[in-house]
Amino acid sequence: MITLALSKGRIFEETLPLLAAAGIEVTEDPEKSRKLILSTNRPDVRVVLVRATDVPTYVQHGGADIGVAGKDTLIEHSGSNGDHDGLYQPLDLNIAKCRMSVAVRADFDYATAVKQGSRIRVATKYTTIASEHFANKGVHVDLIKLYGSMELAPLIGVADAIVDLVSTGNTLKANHLVEVEEIMQISSRLVVNQASLKLKREAIRQLIQAFESAIPA
Ligand code: AMP
Repeated sequence: MITLALSKGRIFEETLPLLAAAGIEVTEDPEKSRKLILSTNRPDVRVVLVRATDVPTYVQHGGADIGVAGKDTLIEHSGSNGDHDGLYQPLDLNIAKCRMSVAVRADFDYATAVKQGSRIRVATKYTTIASEHFANKGVHVDLIKLYGSMELAPLIGVADAIVDLVSTGNTLKANHLVEVEEIMQISSRLVVNQASLKLKREAIRQLIQAFESAIPA
């Protein structure tokens, strides 16, 4: 049995064509059911639905053999679990693409604050990525860890800036925030449990090959 960990939403939807290329069809709709373990047309493959941030943890601990997780999630995971997390990342799947950016209120002069060496208050869920980014720039920041709706923090005076994922930019625009710096491009990767890679080598190799042949340009 091969267990694949996915999160609902964009990653699930954009992984379906890759699974199809491997001859795998998920036979249950996660939006219509509360089931956490979904069956497929293949008796030897199942999908488990977990929170995006939990995908690396399930794969690391062997609860799933493989998974799909965003680059952001993987960096934050190794930031808090160390680099030796037993996760093999053989493929960038080029799906669920977006960027990690710094955004501020339209009336906050970010360039001047950075140039003057002011201490900047930054709200984010992505503390590993944010602290590394500002350390590399030599900018002093006070990081404020939030778990959601980062856009609110600058609006109510809790932070000067946020570090968040941006896709269309609509969320920032709706909250009168502007993107001032792109930190990195983000896409989702395949992660594989290292023990599974040894024990189920052939099945996993075939999956990786099929996924690779179907990666969108
Ligand atoms: P947008 O309004 O299209 O720029 O999307 C921004 C919002 O969607 C932010 O709150 C992000 O946290 C979230 N978001 C955008 N792209 C992704 C992604 N690939 N994975 C997870 N969250 C995302």
